[in-house]
Amino acid sequence: MQFHPDIKPAESAAPFSIVDIARAAAKNLSGRWAVVPGAWSVNAEIVGGERSFHLGVDEEGDLYLHYRPRPDDRLPDVMPRGVVVYPDGLFFEGAYAEEGLMTLSARVAAAIEAVTGNPAPVIQIPAPGTAIELGRAHAEFGRTLVYPTAKPLTCHSTEHPTPAAAGYMVSHLGFTVPTCGDHKDAAADVARELYDLS
Ligand SMILES: [Zn+2]
Repeated sequence: MQFHPDIKPAESAAPFSIVDIARAAAKNLSGRWAVVPGAWSVNAEIVGGERSFHLGVDEEGDLYLHYRPRPDDRLPDVMPRGVVVYPDGLFFEGAYAEEGLMTLSARVAAAIEAVTGNPAPVIQIPAPGTAIELGRAHAEFGRTLVYPTAKPLTCHSTEHPTPAAAGYMVSHLGFTVPTCGDHKDAAADVARELYDLS
């Protein structure tokens, strides 16, 4: 068991715990993931299939994700924004509770996806009327969404010999890419990259 003397959930300013972050992250991952709370809710195990990720806070107050790397793990060239690789796992540069549950859980889910190589599914929603509605949809349904758009946009893909009408918009946490019905997955990859490089 790890003991973090400076972390006392009862006195924490955050209205959520490490376990809450783990649960919200697990909900957003593709496949079945479970969360096993650690002692005092200052850490949690995020378990899916044969993989297990330990989310906690170290003595310096940094949020970290420990896991056992596998020989066939291939971390992407560009890690998700603010995710730093160290020998036993990952830590989240500059993560602080005031970022809020959704942002922190999105960072954790993105880090796990970078390790497993399985991006979360793209969820279809009705067209949101405003950016605030889109933000709410992300909080409720997931980080990568697709919705129909009536705007005269062209598909982002260069596979079309001539510009093709988009018809859909893919949004990864608000970073949007127009796409036709055939290139939604590619649009999701581009939107994730835009987010990670921002
Ligand atoms: Zn297309």
